[in-house]
This record gives sequence, structure tokens and C-alpha cells, in this order.
Amino acid sequence: MLRVHSYESMGTFDGPGLRFVVFLQGCNFRCLYCANPDTIDIEGESKPTSEYDILKQVTDMKPFFGKRGGVTFSGGEPTFQAEALLPLVQAIKEQGIHVCIDSNGGIWNPSVEALLKEVDLVLLDVKQANCSHHESLTGRSNAQTLRTAEWLEQNGKPFWLRYVLVPGYSDMEEDIRLLGEKLGGYKMIERVELLPYHTLGVHKYEAMGQEYQLKGVKENTPEQIDRAAELLKEYFPMVVVN
Ligand code: SF4
Repeated sequence: MLRVHSYESMGTFDGPGLRFVVFLQGCNFRCLYCANPDTIDIEGESKPTSEYDILKQVTDMKPFFGKRGGVTFSGGEPTFQAEALLPLVQAIKEQGIHVCIDSNGGIWNPSVEALLKEVDLVLLDVKQANCSHHESLTGRSNAQTLRTAEWLEQNGKPFWLRYVLVPGYSDMEEDIRLLGEKLGGYKMIERVELLPYHTLGVHKYEAMGQEYQLKGVKENTPEQIDRAAELLKEYFPMVVVN
């Protein structure tokens, strides 16, 4: 059984082509800007769902995927349920369907390793290259995330690097340059996705009776986004603003 938060049947944001996105429940990080705070708790409002039920939905959607699309497991943090997720991913792959996993890279165990070997593409969210700034932003160290990036590189697994540009938290030039210095030489990074900071999830905090801690933080100006994209382009050949 997998704990599923929700589904998106025609996603165009999480990986190539048209995608069936499965948002899994539970996360090991506590990002201050999390747009899906209701996915963080290990159970939340989620329902235990059989792998068969998810496989059936995926199979029904297959005609819509085309050549590039497929399934993306997101969250929450999908590797939180790696052991249960692995056989489902294997079954989807057996049908010739492309599978992505959108991960913060912060969990590592034999099931996660097997899962990452199985998927076609990893969308690796690196929240901050500076470890102490990462801790302020997410409540956790970035050491495992950086080790996961290194593992992907060494094991020839294609990945997209995703970076959310949070004013005052992850848009400092020295930290963006640090990201470039740490990961800029990696050949398996197919693209860097620069994600502007948004406040679309703020109402969820109110609904959950929680305080949104980045209340005073404004969304990025176009100039801030351009500047960060230009900095990243000094280190990575393919940078897109998503
Ligand atoms: S890793 Fe993603 S789901 Fe987890 S707290 Fe951060 S933004 Fe939210």
C-alpha cells in the first residue's frame, strides 16, 4: 500500500511531455516555503492505496503520454515510501512507460538506491548549496542531497536540477555560485530548472491552523530571476525558468 495525497492527470510541469503525477504523502524536510504543507505529515489526509489501483490508472492514461510523457512520482517526498514504490515503478516500466521521480534527495537506503536505478529521470530539488542556509530553509542538512547528486552522476542517471529562488533565502549570488561550483561539472544534469518563488500554497497554512513563516517575502522580480538565470548559465549549459 502507498499513501497517496493526490493525483494530477495531465501535468506539464514535472518532467517531459504530458504526465500523470502521483503526489505521495510524507516528507523528511520542512521547507519554510513548502507549497504543499498538507503532504508533509506521514499520514495527513491521505488514503492507503494499492499499487494495483495506481497501476490501473497509469495504464488507462498510457495513450495520452505520447513519445515523451509518462508518470512522475512527486510529493511530499516520494522516496519516503521507496520500499512500497519500487515494485510499482518496476511494473510501470515493464509497460514501457517513462517514469520520473521528483525528490529532495535527502533520504538514502537500499530501497531508494534501487528506486533511483529503476526510474528514467530524476528531478532533483536542491534547495540550497550552502549547508547552514539549507538548514535554515528546510530544517535539514543538504549533505545527503549532494551525495545523491554525486551518486546520480557516478551511476549515469540523467537528472534535472531544480532550484527554487527564494528572496533572502536562496537568491544570494555566493550561494548560487556555490551550487555551480559543486555541481556545474556534472554531465548527467540535462537541465537546470530555476523555479520562481510563489505564495500559492499560503492559504493551506491558514486552513491547517499553521503560521506561514515567509509572510514578508515577496515574489521575485523579473530582474532577480534574470540575474539568477544568468549566474547559473555561467556553470550549466542548459538553464530554463519554469
Ligand atoms: S521537500 Fe518539498 S514537500 Fe518536502 S517540505 Fe520541502 S517543498 Fe515541501
